[in-house]
Amino acid sequence: MILYNSLTRKKEEFVPLTPGEVKMYVCGPTVYNYFHIGNGRTFIVFDTIRRYFEYRGYKVNFVQNFTDIDDKMIKKANEEGTTVACVGDKYIDEYYKDADGLNIKRASTNPRATEFVQDIIDFISGLIEKGYAYEVAGDVYFRTKKFDGYGKLIKQSIEDLQSGARINIDERKEDPIDFALWKAQKPGEPAWESPWGLGRPGWHIECSCMAKKLLGETIDIHAGGMDLAFPHHENEIAQSEALTGKTFANYWMHSAYLNVNNEKMSKSLNNFLTAREALKNYDADVIRFLMLSAHYRVQLNFSGELLDSAKASVERLYNAVANLENLIDEVKKDKMDEKEEEYLKSLDVYRQKYIDKMDDDFNTADAITAIFDLIRDINSNINIESSKELCEKALELIRELGGPLGMLQKSTKGSLEEEIERLIEERQQARKDRNFALADKIRDDLKARNIILEDTPQGVRWKKVN
Ligand code: AMP
Ligand code: ZN
Repeated sequence: MILYNSLTRKKEEFVPLTPGEVKMYVCGPTVYNYFHIGNGRTFIVFDTIRRYFEYRGYKVNFVQNFTDIDDKMIKKANEEGTTVACVGDKYIDEYYKDADGLNIKRASTNPRATEFVQDIIDFISGLIEKGYAYEVAGDVYFRTKKFDGYGKLIKQSIEDLQSGARINIDERKEDPIDFALWKAQKPGEPAWESPWGLGRPGWHIECSCMAKKLLGETIDIHAGGMDLAFPHHENEIAQSEALTGKTFANYWMHSAYLNVNNEKMSKSLNNFLTAREALKNYDADVIRFLMLSAHYRVQLNFSGELLDSAKASVERLYNAVANLENLIDEVKKDKMDEKEEEYLKSLDVYRQKYIDKMDDDFNTADAITAIFDLIRDINSNINIESSKELCEKALELIRELGGPLGMLQKSTKGSLEEEIERLIEERQQARKDRNFALADKIRDDLKARNIILEDTPQGVRWKKVN
């Protein structure tokens, strides 16, 4: 498999640290609010990548953290007259509801930063011992200049970064680009005991520490949204590699923004749609289709029209599923004959095309095209004359290719029953209106689908016959 490594800015062959395994860390949400579908894009993208690794036979240890202590969390707790821990508990619960709603697989571990404070303190102490960090009045800063290679992720020299940072000169720091590892407590803030007095961890150190603790000193893939590359990921590399002397992550992956009117969807710009709201009107398959219809490194401009067109596309895909599900119930032949076996084999080209596209840096857009091609072929070649076995195998293949995308796993069966009930009601109405031609037509159409209506004293019943 090939993936684009943000660190080298090249597509590279994926070579895991341990054959057959992927150790992957994705920066998760700060849990002070419902997440929006911009965050959702990043979660869906890396969920898909994880699922695809699993599809290709890898065992994936997938860690996605919750940032449950920072300025925004403290502000929210003050606004709501509650504690930071309560805000965290609440929005972690809400995260799971929405992530489950979007069919995002649960991570192997979802660590909360506040559960790792002692490990973070140990990490920072290690950096101080090695001369990579210093304390000033209860704060601890990373001594950036001492770390060779600072700027290697964003490809900027330390001098450029220094001149960029000069605007925010902070007297306490040795250098404007030094960043906080530990923050001394301010009045009203939650705090933990540490060798530097009461305080709390900085954001960057949390991820470095949790990745090391849960996945090891060197991991395969570290990922997050594009906005995290600098300074968050750059700082993570500096802290981790300064402490261990080892490469922190072999591959860095960044997903592009979901935009609105060509601006990043974000809470601060107030141009967001929460996942919760989106899920009220659109199915998870539709939202995932929208996100995965573009390559993950290409920005995607969100609009209502785009969502509606994703809905229409997903309907086309599910029509094929419904068609096969109906055929499975209705066809007369059981087993495939030789010709059908050959036909089924011919469908392998779509699986191969799909794999080729996904193996090439997770090109979900082209992989979806391969699924459409498969469906077109199935629609024009599988029909009431086909065998049940062929219909089942074709449906299995659609579901197989939908699996890594987290799509196309639902049955349309429930909706078939609803459809029949609806048609029966329509027929009753037609009879009341003395429109017997329409009533008969509805009955005959259903009969053609092997559904027989029976008028009983208790009302209309239906049954399926073969
Ligand atoms: P946050 O809760 O803001 O830390 O964000 C959680 C994740 O969502 C991070 O990986 C961000 O990079 C990502 N993210 C935030 N906004 C967007 C957006 N508009 N498009 C894609 N990813 C985003
Ligand atoms: Zn992080």
